[in-house]
Amino acid sequence: MRVRFWGVRGSIAAPGAETARYGGNTSCVEVQLPGGDPIVFDMGTGARVLGRELLQRPERAVQVFISHFHMDHVFGFPFFAPAFAPSFKVSVSSPAFGGEATRDRLGRYLNGLLHPLRMPDLPAPIEYGAVRPGRPVQVGEATVTPTQLVHPGGACGYVVEGGGRKVAYLTDSGPLSRPGEGLSGNLAPNSRERELIRLLRGADLVAMDTMFTESEYMEKLNWGHGYPEYSAALCRAAEVKTLALFHHSPDAEDDDLDRLSERWAGGIDGMKVILAREGADVDLEG
Ligand SMILES: [Zn+2]
Ligand SMILES: [Zn+2]
Repeated sequence: MRVRFWGVRGSIAAPGAETARYGGNTSCVEVQLPGGDPIVFDMGTGARVLGRELLQRPERAVQVFISHFHMDHVFGFPFFAPAFAPSFKVSVSSPAFGGEATRDRLGRYLNGLLHPLRMPDLPAPIEYGAVRPGRPVQVGEATVTPTQLVHPGGACGYVVEGGGRKVAYLTDSGPLSRPGEGLSGNLAPNSRERELIRLLRGADLVAMDTMFTESEYMEKLNWGHGYPEYSAALCRAAEVKTLALFHHSPDAEDDDLDRLSERWAGGIDGMKVILAREGADVDLEG
């Protein structure tokens, strides 16, 4: 299984010399099993670059899962080249009651006003689906389990299992417990945390929203973003092997992220902690 980060930034793309090393594109992560079609999480601005590359590869199908419809997670959709390639089978699913709802939500963006195209203008045959938290879906050899996160308007995280490996994409989300409670208070996990820990148990890699520092989180409790110490506590409890800090603040410059990376360089209790970086691959054998 291979995981590649095409966009690691949160909220708004942050191009420029100060963000060149970690990358300025917003959320887009690709997971691929050997011989399988690519599975893509979110269509942030990173999807534009991914789309160009997909046209060069032999596979002619791609499954996209959207976490939620905030612009930093869908802006890249009408710039995703496979959606314009009639030879490509593109499937897009989101947490919704049905495929029509996924299509309608993207249609609010592709409506001729916010973007010059309208949904019917897309030439490729796109299939729209819906996911429900806790109900796994099969994509080739991979099982993808959606899970409810903590975010204004709701957001879904996804756990992918296949080829003996497990990875998770968990953004955007605040902690699953309130300050002073559950893992947030260094106490025993609450019921929601226990449920997510069960789902993540033994994962090889978890990419998780850590846009804030703990003190920023305390000032913005309802914004639906997390911080590294909480994500590390949750992943440790689930015996995760590697935590990738993800959804970096647009204001975090490379030097800031280097400092964050150094602070976590030793990992914690045997768990590796890395920073998601645009263009980086994580290869997991199997
Ligand atoms: Zn976001
Ligand atoms: Zn969001």
